[in-house]
Amino acid sequence: MKDTYRHKGLRKRMIDALRQRGISDEAVLAAMMAVPRHFFLDKAFEEHAYEDKPFPIGNKQTISQPFTVAYMTALLQVKPNDRVLEIGTGSGYQAAILAALGAHVYTLERQEALYLRAKALLAELGVRNVRCYWRDGFGGLPEHAPYNGIIVTAGAPVVPEPLRQQLAVAGRLVIPVGEEVQYMHRFTRLSETEYREEVFDAFRFVPFLEGINKKDSK
Ligand code: SAH
Repeated sequence: MKDTYRHKGLRKRMIDALRQRGISDEAVLAAMMAVPRHFFLDKAFEEHAYEDKPFPIGNKQTISQPFTVAYMTALLQVKPNDRVLEIGTGSGYQAAILAALGAHVYTLERQEALYLRAKALLAELGVRNVRCYWRDGFGGLPEHAPYNGIIVTAGAPVVPEPLRQQLAVAGRLVIPVGEEVQYMHRFTRLSETEYREEVFDAFRFVPFLEGINKKDSK
């Protein structure tokens, strides 16, 4: 896999477009400049990798569009050395962005085929601070809790209680909530028992589904 000057040029344009759409978090923009998105897409979409669009990644799933990744990552307010849990590994792109921000990333995927591919790709790219799990994200990952940030990259009909419970105090949970359309929510844990809830813009995600799915059953 190559990251050419042409790719870098297209990526720079993607960053400019994100700025124009209102993304102003410099750390997030720098991370998105550093990670070659075309590595996470099928070769067939390489030419389009830096357009602000989602693309199919197999198993009826999609890599989120760059604007959505930037928006959610900015809401998460990641600091270096934060422990971050991602639900919905998909292509591994969002996990690589979190790693580029200096987070220790744990990422869960329910589809075995996607889990295997993302894990192999992140290893090949030398991304070290991401650990991949084939796991149903509804339960979170209690063995490594608490997290400074939790990000759900599938549309959730409800907010799973285990995810709120696995936040550290001052930790943030960024999750798109809703059925057809999802509103981005951010829950900030204020104390053992209190959370602040904020609601942001509307998005459309692939659904957050319960249970795991074996490689051969697409
Ligand atoms: N973050 C991904 C985009 C993921 S699309 C990226 O950067 O490419 C959403 C992903 O969430 C899909 O791969 C889907 O299989 C996964 N998913 C849906 N429900 C899940 C669950 N309960 N647990 C874990 N992963 C889930």
